[in-house]
Amino acid sequence: MHDILPADMPVWNQLEDEYRALAESYGYREIRTPVVEKTALFARSIGAVTDIVEKEMYSFEDRNGDSLSLRPENTASVVRAGLQAGMLQDQQHRLWYSGPMFRHERPQKGRYRQFHQLGAETFGIPGADIEAELILLAARFWKRLGLEDIELQINSLGSSGCRQRFRGILVEYFRDHYDSLDVDSQRRLETNPLRILDSKNPDMQGLIEAAPALVDSLDQESREHFNELTDILDKTGVVYQVNQRLVRGLDYYCHTVFEWVTDTLGAQGTVCGGGRYDGLVEQLGGKPSYAAGFSMGCERLVSMLIDQGRAQDESGCDVYLLMRGENSVPRAQQLAETLRDELPRLGLVVHAGGGSFKSQMRKADKSGARIALILGEAEIAANTVSVKFLRQDRQQEEIPQADIVNRINSLLGNN
Ligand code: ATP
Ligand code: MG
Repeated sequence: MHDILPADMPVWNQLEDEYRALAESYGYREIRTPVVEKTALFARSIGAVTDIVEKEMYSFEDRNGDSLSLRPENTASVVRAGLQAGMLQDQQHRLWYSGPMFRHERPQKGRYRQFHQLGAETFGIPGADIEAELILLAARFWKRLGLEDIELQINSLGSSGCRQRFRGILVEYFRDHYDSLDVDSQRRLETNPLRILDSKNPDMQGLIEAAPALVDSLDQESREHFNELTDILDKTGVVYQVNQRLVRGLDYYCHTVFEWVTDTLGAQGTVCGGGRYDGLVEQLGGKPSYAAGFSMGCERLVSMLIDQGRAQDESGCDVYLLMRGENSVPRAQQLAETLRDELPRLGLVVHAGGGSFKSQMRKADKSGARIALILGEAEIAANTVSVKFLRQDRQQEEIPQADIVNRINSLLGNN
């Protein structure tokens, strides 16, 4: 688990601000749920035989003896919240979220025990049009961030009928090769055979490559659904690859699944994963409901922004106000408060803690401010303030205090 220190924050804010603005512009509304839920929620949704529930959850008993878990992902929580608030019955919703998730994984680059996700969930919309919208939203997000080298992979799991059929075919195939399966896969053969296709074990890759393809089990309706999606992607210019091996091992997924992947991050290259999960609402006790969504990993996107030189390095400070001479501190604070009244968005740091003029100037420079305002004895006597340019080779000015708001406005522009 990592601290995000002040120096790291600008790029995090950039990511989160951009996502918020974009999601809102597509008509998605924010939802926030607690970071702890009953353990049973995740066992029932993500499934008892997944990596997450089997070995990655931070679970504990609270003082009442209830088993709670830090959320390993947010979809189950959003569905739970939607059900509890009565939002999911015969209604359409577009929602987005942002927040920390917790998984007890083996820490490595791009894989942490507390990590952060930005996500979207939609409810009540059956078609490929909403799946395309989710993909278009993500594509536009990469574009807004200036990120390159993120490729889209898509696949169809088909209707639940197709999945059942494919499951049978797959079990038969892997049974014939039982001795070549690793221990995890042997266990999954009974519980969650699709998940075997998701195995990260290199020794299993040959067997997985040769396994029957899901696409051959798709019925007419499922094919049409998938064609509708690829048609929209083609017409909107989204480049994609159909990846037959892309599965989400969970029973509630159906039809479209997708991942955005990059090869610029090393082994942990998936920055966004999503798909349709029509079965989940019912599985959590609601009426059957259409649902589709995605979630992206912030740490990986932050790495990419930095690696690709796209990280904004913004200092919140535009102006540093320093003072010298007797009684200059209250006068400086007074001037600063006036400025804050007039220019509410101005980044204004007022020097505190005393010190020589020279050391104050050093702090002004370090603050990132473009302008230092100096309030000395002479300025106080004359009701003026001196303006020193910290990033420009330009003559210092002394201006009447009454003009300072206008002067700052014209010097800094957008305030
Ligand atoms: P992976 O195959 O990398 O384990 P996953 O299928 O477990 O991914 P999801 O549950 O789909 O991942 O989560 C969505 C995204 O969240 C991932 O694509 C990834 O970017 C990010 N993510 C998942 N787990 C972690 C983690 N432990 N640390 C950092 N980011 C993560
Ligand atoms: Mg994982």
